Amino acid sequence: MVVDSRIDPPGMQQLVEEFPEVQLELGGFRSSTFNNARQLIVSPGVSLRETAIVEARSRGVLVTGDIDLFSQYATAPVVAVTGSNGKSTVVSLVAEILSAAGQKVGLGGNLDGANARPALELLLRKQTRWDVFVLELSSFQLETTSDLRAEVAVILNLSEDHMDRYDDIDGYWQAKQRIFRGARKIVVNRDNPFSEPPDPGSAQILRFGVGEAVDGEFGLSELNGTQHLCFGDTAVTRVDELKVAGRHNVANVLAAMTICHALGVDLKTIGAAVREFRGLPNRCQWVTRVDDVNYYNDSKGTNVGATVAAIDGVGQAISGRVVLIAGGVGKSADFTPLRPVVERYVRLVIVIGAAARELAETLKAQTGIQFAGDMDEAVRLARKESLPGDAVLLSPACASFDMFRDFNHRGQVFTEAVRSLQ
Ligand code: ADP
Repeated sequence: MVVDSRIDPPGMQQLVEEFPEVQLELGGFRSSTFNNARQLIVSPGVSLRETAIVEARSRGVLVTGDIDLFSQYATAPVVAVTGSNGKSTVVSLVAEILSAAGQKVGLGGNLDGANARPALELLLRKQTRWDVFVLELSSFQLETTSDLRAEVAVILNLSEDHMDRYDDIDGYWQAKQRIFRGARKIVVNRDNPFSEPPDPGSAQILRFGVGEAVDGEFGLSELNGTQHLCFGDTAVTRVDELKVAGRHNVANVLAAMTICHALGVDLKTIGAAVREFRGLPNRCQWVTRVDDVNYYNDSKGTNVGATVAAIDGVGQAISGRVVLIAGGVGKSADFTPLRPVVERYVRLVIVIGAAARELAETLKAQTGIQFAGDMDEAVRLARKESLPGDAVLLSPACASFDMFRDFNHRGQVFTEAVRSLQ
């Protein structure tokens, strides 16, 4: 049986056509249905705190999700990546490195965009025999994952997000930690204590960080006056050879290198593949230059940690200051961690959407604030207020669904508004 709380959920017609024998129950969750099930396979979009799910669970109904189903049937090793930010970038780069090493890579999970493929769909592709699966996993997916047994697992980093679904950051972290269950190798980010598994068991640990590369670990070291990404004292590539910008992306590249090294890929192949990697759309993506001002689309900056990283990355790279466009659905987040980077790099914040007033209140002591009614107005204001050498950065620190279909749509509207300035 398929159940949806909506009366007319998207994809319903297709479901009915492809699986006419499946019973549908729409418009709400009924305890009578859930209590009589043997197993509930819960979509990550549904909270496990739904009354009918809590009740069924307390009566012994097994609650699981798509990733546990996936691991039951997957026959190739799984690389599992979670974290608050950088997941899509890291899994995409890992897939490129592994492909360069000659492997057939099944890439998917929570990933959006051109390579979006739900994990279970990877198993349907009978024509391909994958050598390895690379999965991006959200905390919502991990909540229902009990038995992943990944070949390599990583929590890239953790900063506050989704506080509308968790009581506190600890609850969010607990969900993420389920990624380590049964893992053979665990990759740890030395710079983020939440990346460390509380109980690694017999798993092998491999580490990276943006500090000096120590023996047996990936890091950043200065060689002949130039910053290099290194494994111990072996240089893999120079930082200025990377096509992705910002310190957060250096961390992402180091994470991908460590994962691929754990899978046995040689450093030369890793170095060549990372130098080719251009990053993903909507992630600190350069749009154009107008009147000596560069415009960046970081529409995927949907939480405070992401926006802190984006401001830091762009701010460090320019001679002027950042004009930031931010706002949207705040997801009950605390915006105060934005204050130090805003003070340091931002000339003006143009606020939009549902969280506009709250953002303005939080940041008004650090920088100038202006309100805009929509993205076009925000972009026009940004052009008017920016000076030569500045950068205009859309990095909302918020979800998009108050004004846009999704973050892609938001990035698109921003890009079009910017292009119309030319
Ligand atoms: P995710 O899939 O976890 O959302 P993405 O790779 O899509 O991550 O990046 C989303 C946003 O997060 C980027 O636009 C950037 O603002 C920020 N970001 C990316 N990598 C990091 C990182 N390592 N640390 C902090 N912020 C990051």
